[in-house]
Amino acid sequence: MAAPITTISDSKDRQGLNLIAAHSHIRGLGVTPDTLTPKPSADGLVGQQKARKAASVILQMVKEGKIAGRAVLISGPPSTGKTAIATGMSKGLGDDVPFTMLASSEIYSLEMSKTEALEQAFRKSIGVRIREESEVIEGEVVEIQIDRSVTGSNKSGKLTLKTTDMETLYDMGTRMIDSMTKEKVMAGDIISIDKASGRITKLGRSYTRSRDYDAMGPDTKFVQCPDGELQVRRETVHTVSLHEIDVINSRTQGFLALFSGDTGEIRSEVREQINTKVAEWREEGKAEIVPGVLFIDEVHMLDIECFSFINRALEDELAPIVIMASNRGSTTIRGTNYRSPHGLPLDFLDRVVIISTHPYSPDEIREILTIRAQEEEVDISANALALLTKFGQEAGLRYAANLIMTSHLLAQKRRAKEVDSQDVQRSYMLFYDPGRSAKFVAEFQGRFIGEDGGVTLGGVN
Ligand code: ATP
Repeated sequence: MAAPITTISDSKDRQGLNLIAAHSHIRGLGVTPDTLTPKPSADGLVGQQKARKAASVILQMVKEGKIAGRAVLISGPPSTGKTAIATGMSKGLGDDVPFTMLASSEIYSLEMSKTEALEQAFRKSIGVRIREESEVIEGEVVEIQIDRSVTGSNKSGKLTLKTTDMETLYDMGTRMIDSMTKEKVMAGDIISIDKASGRITKLGRSYTRSRDYDAMGPDTKFVQCPDGELQVRRETVHTVSLHEIDVINSRTQGFLALFSGDTGEIRSEVREQINTKVAEWREEGKAEIVPGVLFIDEVHMLDIECFSFINRALEDELAPIVIMASNRGSTTIRGTNYRSPHGLPLDFLDRVVIISTHPYSPDEIREILTIRAQEEEVDISANALALLTKFGQEAGLRYAANLIMTSHLLAQKRRAKEVDSQDVQRSYMLFYDPGRSAKFVAEFQGRFIGEDGGVTLGGVN
């Protein structure tokens, strides 16, 4: 079965779990907001300043809704922070902007075709922000304060509304008259409206300071009814992905499939209907499209058919921005005999902007390992950190980061509060890095089971 692809709602839920995962220390791209200048170490990200700057420019464009249907490739050697940077980007997106993470191997499944899995991932990355207007409950007494701004908010259970222009309200024919005194309601008056009878009663003048106005949201508005009565309506805004709408409307699957992730294939007619419906909502001003981000890791694992699908999908009116990562140099494009940079077909590569990441300096490795140790709540001595940094340089950052927790467990066994170099050294002896493992395999080649299933005892044929 294909692994369920993360949706807007569940990706946000997972962020809330605070699991100590590989990238849980990353909180953003660590750039100054106005100039987009990366700080040497901020938001959990260290170094890679050029790549972080480039990523923050892309992020800014996504946030401004300026680009969709573009493809970005983050390329660089293993463990140089490609996924970390993509995670930083996801943290910088608004709460309702979808971010979908897909490992290329996830699309190979018996349950659905590769292109269906990709189509679902694309549609998970497009949000539809739907506005629904709901009336404030009838008969409820609503306190209204009239003042100088245009929006409204719900504060401490009371609805506070403001309008720039009292005259406009009068012109609209709104009955802004105190029901007892028959006085006109003025800017700054606090009034209550009985929604059942529409009666207005002046309660007094407002001495509220502007800090109260800051709390006002755009989700409440005055609506004038045909009989001239002023109504107060609250707008609720939901953002769902196109994929979620597809699943809910797919008769074979139903909305429960959203929870199991087992949506199977969705018929193209369903998608066409949804596209038409969403276009209608947009025309009527009920919905807007929020292009999100689809992150495809290990993109060299995709084959030529997938690339041709993505090429077409990027030209669709409803396209997210696609960010891909690859640690491959020149390699064969899957499904062909051709080699090309990063395993991407040349015509596809042509439309991609490339951000590259570079190996870290020892200081940067030490800084990243320090952040990881804090994230895993492990106290570590200066000597142990120096040794881990050395292993990081020799055997890779990921390997050194993995030794933090194993060394911590060894330190606990000897009832020490802090990890010392002896714990790191013991961990190093217990757990092989890829380089030593390859050497071991080469030395004892004869004792392993070979491709033909045979074993050569003692390494002698
Ligand atoms: P691969 O090509 O093997 O997939 P990658 O380039 O995607 O590697 P990451 O998975 O991003 O590498 O990095 C490996 C680990 O190091 C992760 O835990 C990541 O969060 C951390 N890391 C990498 N770069 C940085 C950085 N610049 N700042 C902080 N943490 C980083």
